[in-house]
Amino acid sequence: MRFDALVLEKTPEGVKASVQALDETRLPEGDVLVEVLYSSVNYKDALAVTGRGKIIRGDYPFVPGIDLVGRVLASESPAWKPGDLVLCTGWGIGENTWGGYSRRQRLRSEWLVPLPEGLTPLEAMVIGTAGFTAMLSAMALADHGVTPDRGEVVVTGASGGVGSMAVAILAGRGYRVVASTGKAAAHDYLAALGAARFLPREELGAGPHRPLDSARWAGAVDAVGGATLAAVISQTGRHGCIAACGLAGGHELHTTVFPFILRGVTLQGIDSNTCPGPVRRRAWENLARELSKEALQRMTSRMIPLEAVPEASEEILAGRVQGRIVVDLSA
Ligand code: NDP
Repeated sequence: MRFDALVLEKTPEGVKASVQALDETRLPEGDVLVEVLYSSVNYKDALAVTGRGKIIRGDYPFVPGIDLVGRVLASESPAWKPGDLVLCTGWGIGENTWGGYSRRQRLRSEWLVPLPEGLTPLEAMVIGTAGFTAMLSAMALADHGVTPDRGEVVVTGASGGVGSMAVAILAGRGYRVVASTGKAAAHDYLAALGAARFLPREELGAGPHRPLDSARWAGAVDAVGGATLAAVISQTGRHGCIAACGLAGGHELHTTVFPFILRGVTLQGIDSNTCPGPVRRRAWENLARELSKEALQRMTSRMIPLEAVPEASEEILAGRVQGRIVVDLSA
């Protein structure tokens, strides 16, 4: 039985992506075989597919895709049986081992999460790693006592996958959400997701004015990093918390200890990749319960076939995508 997959090969000109027909003997080791229904295109996938970031640590040829949802075809683990709907995000799929851009994939049983009640497989991939990361960020703010009555929270890179999801989740939890975005055209979209007001991207992107600026934020979800994160840290109020989850604007961070020792600010790192199983399941149950069907529809940028993943990756890296791109493998 042959099936299609997007295969990356290393050539003298760089990484080349093409759709190829594979058979199951090519798949990696694992105790569960899954028929993949949908995947998605995340920022990390875009870096991997274009070869512009050092994402892939496995051998080439390589099948990328850090997210997938599908149906179990065969399982050597008592945890899963044929027909179960499962999702897998992170754990190194699409980085160390083959991932979601394949109609079939072999995975390790402990990586899988049951598709939560209330979500369709398609909706699970609209959410994907982006939504999962946004939920972990929202949970981090709540765990650090940042409640909606404490003041405004800011989301940076707001029109992207993680940002859009964070706006929707935080607004749904009753926070007053300020969306920092480089896309003025995305204001209506973000307002529909629940953003109360907007900041132009350059305002925080210019970096901190002073090590300790006027306190503006009770908390933050930062998908941008670099000078933007440094500005957010300098403007976060007493005992506020910043969930640092991204680097769309830069991976370096130049800051001072003042916000930490004079305001008790917490900088909470978010790593969706290795998030432990029990927290993972709780986050997915929260996502199924909290995100409305309308919001998920609004956040779906478009559905694409495998062949269109390289082009979509270029758009993501150019910062032109609003919301989430789903890869349809179900047809
Ligand atoms: P997207 O490309 O969907 O969103 C990124 C957004 O950041 C863009 O839409 C844009 O938003 C903004 N942006 C883009 N380029 C720049 C720039 N040069 N300077 C400032 N802002 C910029 O990506 P994702 O939402 O999938 O991922 C966002 C970040 O989070 C990435 O760095 C990704 O690697 C990281 N990530 C981390 C995870 C973790 O576990 N920690 C998991 C998933 C993602 P706007 O136009 O609105 O400003």
